[in-house]
Amino acid sequence: MSEVKPNPLDAAQQQLQIAAEHLRLDPGIHEVLKKPKRALIVSLPVKMDDGEVKVFSGCRVQHNDARGPFKGGIRYHPDVTLDEITALAMLMTWKCAVVNIPYGGAKGGVCCNPKTMSEGELERLTRRYATMILDLIGPYRDVPAPDVYTDEQTMAWIMDTYSQFKGYSVPESVTGKPIILGGFEQREEATAMGVVFCIREAVKHLKMKSKESSVVVQGFGSVGWNAAHILHKSGYKVVAVSDSKGGIYDAKGINPVKVFEHKQKKGSVLGYKNAKQVSNEELLELPCDILVPAALEHQVTRANAHKIKAKMVAEAANAPTTPEADRILHERGIFLIPDILANSGGVTSSYFEWVQNLTRERWPEKEANEKLDNMMVKAFDEVYSTAKKREIDMRTAALILGVGRVAEAVKTLGLWPS
Ligand code: NAD
Repeated sequence: MSEVKPNPLDAAQQQLQIAAEHLRLDPGIHEVLKKPKRALIVSLPVKMDDGEVKVFSGCRVQHNDARGPFKGGIRYHPDVTLDEITALAMLMTWKCAVVNIPYGGAKGGVCCNPKTMSEGELERLTRRYATMILDLIGPYRDVPAPDVYTDEQTMAWIMDTYSQFKGYSVPESVTGKPIILGGFEQREEATAMGVVFCIREAVKHLKMKSKESSVVVQGFGSVGWNAAHILHKSGYKVVAVSDSKGGIYDAKGINPVKVFEHKQKKGSVLGYKNAKQVSNEELLELPCDILVPAALEHQVTRANAHKIKAKMVAEAANAPTTPEADRILHERGIFLIPDILANSGGVTSSYFEWVQNLTRERWPEKEANEKLDNMMVKAFDEVYSTAKKREIDMRTAALILGVGRVAEAVKTLGLWPS
């Protein structure tokens, strides 16, 4: 029997295989898309606050740039592996193609535990990492953004390091940076906004009622907290949220703003009054209409997919569902909004930030929100109609769209030197 949590790269390649079969992809192009174009592994010596030198491992993986410059987040986590980052870079390629923005896919990672590091240590680590990958990145080459346990401050340090080497300020070298440095006002909420736009469209198609729908959110970081907050404001009933330490549940509904204030003071959602404490495993299996995994990959596996009670799963996180769990959810009639569609609002708003930086313009908030909404609705409709027409699940439909567009671009560019 296969592992409950498969190797992330195997899982990503299995998804590609499914899309390739549906598309009857040229075997040569399939081979090209299976592997990253380039991967750089780096060792990062950092002087810690106690004077000791620690060497961290990191990487930057660039999967495919046939449709435009590479684009992808940087993750700091103790469990980062090259396979995981490669899989996430591949997902980025499909995601940019699904939402039809002119980027390829990349991802970076550093194996570290930021929770145990001081701000000074994190700054030295980030600047060292930026220096080591400097030749690969840049506004027309590869544009980094935040991911798990990195944030706008991390992007500010990368932008500054890149700019120092260039000798002039290059705000378009990163996205997700602070507003004062040319960041985009809605970047922080954009991923969650995109998730909510997709949920809104799915709710319409499934003839559910947003006001009466209960929601469980796993992960209470940038994406999870914002998703819970926007859903709450839109009238959905958020009944449970969690972070890495565990979750809280109240069938009558909880106010995410109050939970956020509690987390700010106590460091976790745990201990929030008037709510039952649940483990992250229990949280996924709670009775609810909509489940929003917004933490890490491979949370819904063949071990728990039978026990998911939600009618809809909206994948705010990247790769939260294993391929085996995918099949089980589909067989059980659970409607899944796949990651490469659901969380593509993040990279779309990064694209908005980059375009504004390149053109030295500032778009009004209303205009930007409408653009994001329109692009997400278009992507949702294209995926949904592909799923209906081919009588397939939403993940396969999204992959067919994304992989198909990238394959077409690779074919059109041709192979040189051949
Ligand atoms: P984050 O670091 O801000 O938050 C991660 C959250 O997950 C934290 O609350 C953490 O406590 C929680 N967590 C960690 N391990 C957990 C576990 N085992 N069980 C439950 N919760 C756990 O990260 P983020 O930016 O919110 O990213 C979350 C997911 O969304 C990731 O998969 C990321 O790749 C994806 N994503 C993020 C963006 C973005 O714009 N930030 C865009 C697209 C996709």
